[in-house]
Amino acid sequence: MLWSLLKILVFVAIIGLLAMGAGFLMESSGGVQITVAGTEYTLGPLQSVIALGVLVFAVWLFFKLLTLLIATLKFLNGDETALSRYFDRSREKRGYQALADGLMALASGEGRVAMTKANKAEKLLNKPELTNLLVAQAAEMTGDTKKATETYKKLVTNNATRFVGVRGIMKQKLAEGDDETARKLAEKALALKPRHEETQDVLLNLQTRAQDWAGARSTLTSKLKAGYLPRDVFKRRDAVLALSEAKVLLDDTATVEQQEHAIEANRLSPDLVPAAAMAARAYIKKGKPRAATKIIKKAWEVQPHPDLAHAFAEIAPDETPDQRVKRFTALTRIHPENMETRLILAELNIVAEDFPEARRALGDVVEKQGDARAYTLMAAIERGEGASDAVVQGWLAKALNAPRGPQWVCDNCHDIQPEWGPVCQNCGSFDTLSWQTPQTPEIASATGVHMLPLIVGALEDQSEAEEEPEVDDPEVEEVIEVNAEPVEIEQEKRA
Ligand SMILES: [Zn+2]
Repeated sequence: MLWSLLKILVFVAIIGLLAMGAGFLMESSGGVQITVAGTEYTLGPLQSVIALGVLVFAVWLFFKLLTLLIATLKFLNGDETALSRYFDRSREKRGYQALADGLMALASGEGRVAMTKANKAEKLLNKPELTNLLVAQAAEMTGDTKKATETYKKLVTNNATRFVGVRGIMKQKLAEGDDETARKLAEKALALKPRHEETQDVLLNLQTRAQDWAGARSTLTSKLKAGYLPRDVFKRRDAVLALSEAKVLLDDTATVEQQEHAIEANRLSPDLVPAAAMAARAYIKKGKPRAATKIIKKAWEVQPHPDLAHAFAEIAPDETPDQRVKRFTALTRIHPENMETRLILAELNIVAEDFPEARRALGDVVEKQGDARAYTLMAAIERGEGASDAVVQGWLAKALNAPRGPQWVCDNCHDIQPEWGPVCQNCGSFDTLSWQTPQTPEIASATGVHMLPLIVGALEDQSEAEEEPEVDDPEVEEVIEVNAEPVEIEQEKRA
């Protein structure tokens, strides 16, 4: 409103000034004297202003005619489009219009229209760096992969459009499932544009899938440098990658380098359970049990985990079960109420044949949040205390029907994985496995619930009829074997 008023005021002021100027010129005396070939012309003030306008027009006309002359000369020299270009002034305009229409068609999903417009624009404009991209995109939309590839290759040859071309071919290879070529192209694209976030993500994904951990670490670093990754996330992911570099079983063949990677991974992310377990094993191999203990204790503080307990047991493989219970207090006193701590403590006491202590360690776990492992331990305790087979088998049957407890679950697709890995084996996403109780109902319970009355009923009948500990049903025997596993392992270790 105020702006419009201002514009009107300025317009009125200009008109006023022009009128004043013209009046001033008409009233003023004097003028311009021009002498041409001995004749003298005297122009009045207003006339001289008009003459100046005519002069400007004459100069403009002169240059126009000059460009026409140049176009004609070019035409005579063999440039056939020079004249038509000169006369067809609207050509460029129509070219840009076609380009704009093509882009519009592309955005509204009309591949064929976009293709036609792209071809028209290409002819009119003769600017391949502008039109090729439209052609490639339109070709992809209409499913003409060959044409798209051809066009992308043309884009690669031009310095200004090389990145776009490489990226286009890379996407095609990704769609084809040719990850190997796509990875090489992504590396090339990233070399052209090191800060391009999408390419960084694509490359990182391909590298982790191809288990190129060293390459993935350098891509991750470039993400950090570009500022697309918070430092704490970077540290955690870098740790996962360092761990993956080390993730060859730390047996006798493990190199010093792999051990170092494990230790580095633990340093970068002390709460990463597999890294802590692996680093501890690396220290055990190096003959540094103190360092191993320290690492496991630190990780246990964040999250008690059976892998940590196993690594902790390996620090002193030859100790007696009683010595082991005593040594484990270093861990078990950190989170005494934690489920994992209680289960480990019960297991250790069962191996040491201190069954009342094992029962005390389990406490109310069995009533509150019993899982298969807790029920199996209860069965072992009952057996150790000399309960009847019916009682023991009752616990085992309960274990069959119970949830399996926490496992490595992918946060992205909720798939359950048998062991930790940097990449989810189901959906391929990176660093999504976490130790948690699965949300989904488990397959075991589907048949378990169905079978339970049969199993327990059969067991009760049997124990009443004859004191026969043998179980005839092969399925039940299998269940007992599977669920008794944790105890068996501990017993083996003792032996
Ligand atoms: Zn997944």
